[in-house]
Amino acid sequence: MLTDNFGRKFYYLRLSITDVCNFRCNYCLPDGYQCDHDRDFLSFAEIKRVAKAFGQLGTEKIRITGGEPSLRKDLPDIIAACKQTENIKKVALTSNGYKLPEHINSWLDSGLDALNISIDSLDPRQFHAITGHDKLPIILKGIDMALASGKTSVKINTVLMREFNGYDIKTYLEWLKDTPVTLRFIELMQTGDNQEFFNKQHVQASRIKQKLILDGWLPSIRDKSSGPAQEFYHPDYQGKVGLIMPYSKDFCNTCNRLRVSALGKLHLCLFTEAGLSLKEYLQQDDVEPLKQQIVAMMSDKKATHFLHDNLTGATKNLAMLGG
Ligand code: SAM
Repeated sequence: MLTDNFGRKFYYLRLSITDVCNFRCNYCLPDGYQCDHDRDFLSFAEIKRVAKAFGQLGTEKIRITGGEPSLRKDLPDIIAACKQTENIKKVALTSNGYKLPEHINSWLDSGLDALNISIDSLDPRQFHAITGHDKLPIILKGIDMALASGKTSVKINTVLMREFNGYDIKTYLEWLKDTPVTLRFIELMQTGDNQEFFNKQHVQASRIKQKLILDGWLPSIRDKSSGPAQEFYHPDYQGKVGLIMPYSKDFCNTCNRLRVSALGKLHLCLFTEAGLSLKEYLQQDDVEPLKQQIVAMMSDKKATHFLHDNLTGATKNLAMLGG
């Protein structure tokens, strides 16, 4: 089992398979994706070795992310390979869903268990303004298809921004009355590239938490491979609400996640100074040296991120690392 110096256990791997993103979200890649390095992303064989090594080290859940993971043609094969890996019980995917109706069946056939789709506004014009793409109706259609299949859970990621959606929580809650998804409000995080935007737009999700509790929402119980959200349910709503509050006290105490970037680097935290390269250990089928290297690297994991001190490490934007 992967454990750090603070007794935290790591059941959950976030695996980025590409840096490339086709959206231009205002808080992440407002000028679109710019490549400042070789596009030497993990090959299918390397991805299988990463999954195998983490599976043998006790990982139970892999989230495939990016960049935009669906830009890779071999995504269905990657989902299937992760799913077939020993010890991996759950394969999840985070996507912007820009072609969701076209892709969803092949992802489900490959064994996808959990789908997260980013929707930063339920107003199509506002969605277009935030992402640079007029895709909300298509994405919502894909979500209906995913729900109708009954094969996957669906979560929605919504980054809270004061002027773009922070005032409009009611619309989301209305939607959740009849839509059985978990909607996660994520507090905007400061990155190397978005400081000015962050200063203007950051809103604390604790305000939403107070409102939910007053309106009769109840906290759900976490399990050991749960993500970072505090989740709430309400008997009158089919959907649930999650709050991801990286600036809240003790956020890092429940950290159970590690990340491997598309360039094959282990990131012990979203906001570390640099990733630790695993590339040379990914070239052979024997994963023992890779496992030993991962275990050795764990001793560097710090107790918390340093976002409170405005230290964002080497993370220029979250597309680099898969959010
Ligand atoms: N392209 C995929 C998508 O759109 O979901 C996966 C990658 S994206 C980086 C993963 C998640 O990180 C998205 O939900 C996105 O909204 C979130 N994200 C990106 N930058 C962020 C920031 N600065 N603060 C909070 N969340 C952020």
